[in-house]
Formats: sequence, structure tokens, C-alpha cells
Amino acid sequence: MYLKKLELHGFKSFASATALEFPRGISAVVGPNGSGKSNIADALRFVLGEQSMKSIRSKKGEDLIFSGSPSKQRLSMASVALHFDNEDRTFPMEFGTVVFKRKIFRDGENQYFLNDAQVRLKDLVELIAKAKLGLKGYTVINQGMGDAILDASPTERKEIIFEALGLKEFQLKK
Ligand code: ATP
Repeated sequence: MYLKKLELHGFKSFASATALEFPRGISAVVGPNGSGKSNIADALRFVLGEQSMKSIRSKKGEDLIFSGSPSKQRLSMASVALHFDNEDRTFPMEFGTVVFKRKIFRDGENQYFLNDAQVRLKDLVELIAKAKLGLKGYTVINQGMGDAILDASPTERKEIIFEALGLKEFQLKK
């Protein structure tokens, strides 16, 4: 699976439209404390459909939207887009690139898009599960999650293994 690009606009500290392009191989994001590195990880979870505010270090949807600074007004919407190379049909769709997008508004409304067509969260979660991606497992590993793997209960461990095996799709259907 090749993650090509992440686009953020109005998400947390990313007031201006920002695109992070990832060349093939390993990419590292470095920067001083508080510069927004973890916000990037939060954006990844957000666009993959995260519903737990705690997992993206927030209390409510509004916390995800740029709240303003002395030089920039607060924004009314946050959007994050994630571009995957799909030449190998990781996602069972006839597109060379698959783009997931999620928007959130101050009134708490969320919108989800798949290659620019609006979709339901359910459709997005199902497609992500088909590609063996997901949020319950270890696609995105945040600080402290290494310990959580070691401390996982048998039930939690089962969840991780099911997701890695691609069984999540069938669990969701059931
Ligand atoms: P560390 O290395 O200390 O973990 P980091 O680079 O991971 O830091 P983040 O935690 O990603 O930094 O970014 C924190 C910054 O994001 C803070 O300055 C915080 O004020 C800012 N921030 C978070 N949410 C918003 C928001 N809604 N609007 C504006 N800024 C925000």
C-alpha cells in the first residue's frame, strides 16, 4: 500500500492549505515541540473515519477546526484528504488513485468523500476494512500504543488480529 499525499486545510494548527507528499519508502516528519507533528497523526485517523474524539486528542468536533491566532481568523471548517496509489487495486475500485476526504463543520456536521463523491461513513469504513486498514488495529500507532499491544487483553488482541487478516469487513457486514 502506498500513501502518496495528505492534504490538510483548517485542521487543528493547519490554518492554510497544506499538502504533505510522501515519496516511496519511509518518511519522517520532524519539528520542535508543539509544531503540529501529532496533529498530522490525528488528521490521518480523522480522515479514516475516527469517531472517538479522545483518540484524536479532542473533546468535541469544533476542537479539530483551526481556532484562530493573532494573525489569522478562526475557520468554519476543517478538511483532510488522503491520497492512496491504487494501481495494485489495494482498494477494490477501478481507480489508479483513491482519495478519502472528510470535512467537519462547527455545527458538528461531518461529510465523507471518496474520489470526490459524497459517501456514508459506513461505506468508507467498509472500503477501508477491505484494504485491511483500520483504526482499531495498528495502522496508526500513537504514543503509548506500543505498551498497549503488550498489555492487550485476549479480546483486544483478537480485534487486532482480525483487522490485520482483513476479517473486519465480514464482522462489519455481520
Ligand atoms: P510534541 O513534539 O510536543 O508532541 P507536536 O509537534 O506533536 O508536539 P502537536 O501536539 O501536533 O505538536 O501540536 C500542538 C499545537 O497545535 C498546539 O500549539 C496547539 O495550540 C495547536 N492546535 C491544536 N488544535 C488547534 C486548533 N483547533 N486551532 C489552532 N491550533 C491548534
